[in-house]
Amino acid sequence: MELDKHVEKILWTEQQIFQRVSELASEITQDFTPQTKAPAIVGVATGAFLFLADLVRKIQLPISVDFIRADSYGSGTVSDGNPRIPFDLKVDVEGKHVEDIVDTGSTLSCLIDHIKSKGASSISVCTLLDKPARRKVHFELVGKGKYYCGFECPDYFVVGYGMDFAELYRNLPYVGVLKPEIYS
Ligand code: 5GP
Ligand code: MG
Ligand code: MG
Repeated sequence: MELDKHVEKILWTEQQIFQRVSELASEITQDFTPQTKAPAIVGVATGAFLFLADLVRKIQLPISVDFIRADSYGSGTVSDGNPRIPFDLKVDVEGKHVEDIVDTGSTLSCLIDHIKSKGASSISVCTLLDKPARRKVHFELVGKGKYYCGFECPDYFVVGYGMDFAELYRNLPYVGVLKPEIYS
């Protein structure tokens, strides 16, 4: 079956994502312009790979870019609430963190603690999507960190623009919901 035919509904089109990512990058550029030390932009692999690529190309500042991995979903659609960090940063962290989606908050909270323990004096978070309806774990930014969010996401399991279901659908250029028969 052709890829688009697996999708029941598109929530954000490629064009809407492009527009919103540009706005986030301008905000970040403005907020970090007064700083003398180059911020580290850390993407959460694999889900944030496209978001990170698009965001950093629009940030008009010297920055370093790195990935960290956090897994809690296995191949299902529900977090087991116990994220692991199977690969870690290479760059010095002082700065920021890019997350594809904040659901219960447990991944983010775990990553913030981890990056803080490596000496970051300030941690901001930039997520493409936030699902406030599902929040269980409270997270705290560090230092003068700010929270940037692309879109508030309704309580669906979404795919595309980097986000997977069972490692598939990351290459959809938009964010959408799959047909129910595919999830089952
Ligand atoms: P949390 O730890 O906040 O419950 O979940 C965050 C992580 O779970 C995200 O980084 C992402 O990998 C995954 N996740 C949460 N909701 C979704 C969703 O709707 N679709 C996909 N593909 N991944 C999700
Ligand atoms: Mg993730
Ligand atoms: Mg996943």
